[in-house]
Amino acid sequence: MLQKPKGTYDIYGEKGKQIEYIESLLKSLMSKYNYDYIETPIFESSELFHRGVGETTDIVTKETYDFKDRGDRMMTLRPEGTAGVVRSFVENKMYGYASMPVKTWYFGPMFRYERPQSGRYRQFKQFGLEVFGSDDPMVDAEVISIAVNFYKILGLKGIKVNINSLGDKESRDNYREALIKHFEPVIDTYCEDCRERFKKNPLRILDCKIDHDKEEMKNAPTTIEYLNEESKKHFEAVKEHLEALDIDYIVNPSVVRGLDYYTHTVFEVEADIPEFGSQNVLCGGGRYNGLVEAVGGPNMSGVGFALGLERLLNALEAEKITLPYDNSLDVYVIPMSENEKSYAFGLLQALRMSGFKADIDYMNRKISGNFKQADRYNAKFVIIVGEEEINTRTLTVKNNNTKEEYKVSEELLINFFDDNIEEEH
Ligand code: AMP
Repeated sequence: MLQKPKGTYDIYGEKGKQIEYIESLLKSLMSKYNYDYIETPIFESSELFHRGVGETTDIVTKETYDFKDRGDRMMTLRPEGTAGVVRSFVENKMYGYASMPVKTWYFGPMFRYERPQSGRYRQFKQFGLEVFGSDDPMVDAEVISIAVNFYKILGLKGIKVNINSLGDKESRDNYREALIKHFEPVIDTYCEDCRERFKKNPLRILDCKIDHDKEEMKNAPTTIEYLNEESKKHFEAVKEHLEALDIDYIVNPSVVRGLDYYTHTVFEVEADIPEFGSQNVLCGGGRYNGLVEAVGGPNMSGVGFALGLERLLNALEAEKITLPYDNSLDVYVIPMSENEKSYAFGLLQALRMSGFKADIDYMNRKISGNFKQADRYNAKFVIIVGEEEINTRTLTVKNNNTKEEYKVSEELLINFFDDNIEEEH
């Protein structure tokens, strides 16, 4: 039997409903925060990710799905969303908009050739957002608050917000020097990757999965110690704004994030679920001044984050949270025989066009089978259409919970459901 590729999964049934619900929640949340939807291609030229995500990050050096297209161009399935959005921002000259900042959100599949395990897949879904063009620390705080408020709305309890600052370019450069001094005497005892990172980007040593327990890792200098005045001021303002929003946070110097492009604020939101181990990082992001320029645009700042859907679903399951999506049908229509099918089908369309969630049998079930199907669908009402109903243009409507029956004339049918079904249509 043909099987799905390793590290991927299918979405169907209840999982499909959960994802639909989460997507619609994100959509309405983003509209309240006044962010616009953006969609970019799933594959881009490989060069974009080398320039955009960084030459020294694992996701670019080891984990990309690269392929040559039939025109001999090197392409990469996107491992993350930011680089494509930044490319689009530059290519479509959004930096010229009068209505700055440009606030965007996306939702879609990402691809990384990682070792599959729980909460880690080769194709996974990320929701993310990016804000371009503002240096205001309020934007950093807004972005963090969106992630936190989203998890709160869903009902996740053990949420921990870790923030840190890498500072501006000057601060990062000073920190880099300090790290080189710190690791230089011992770098020969580190793994091959770390020795490479030491030459190219020593900050990356800190997220090594092999050497993470070594003494020098634990007492390495922190970015906060190397922030210049400007950067300190920015970080202080971010914290103040978070406090204004009642967002609890922890300043955690070990959060440096896996991507090369971050400056100033970086953050991660963790679920407090012990059995998740390192997979408890639900989302992460930060400010990336410099990335727009690296992708060929003007010197313009950006802030963003991405959250993984799979880990969120795992966290909801671990905390036994059921999502309040509607698992019922408003109306199930039952024709008594073949003769009433067409009329019932017309009725069904009228109900749907009036905004009701309605369905009918397509499997030639008997009447009793139809009632069972209505129960499977959690139908609120059942309409029975027999010969008499058609002749008198009066339908038999049954409340599927109370089992009460009503006779409702055809022209008053929609009114009847308007009055008796509460949801918004
Ligand atoms: P990153 O883009 O690496 O900063 O990851 C942001 C979020 O995406 C993480 O916190 C996870 O929720 C999710 N994520 C990253 N990589 C994977 C993966 N391989 N499988 C599932 N989710 C992932």
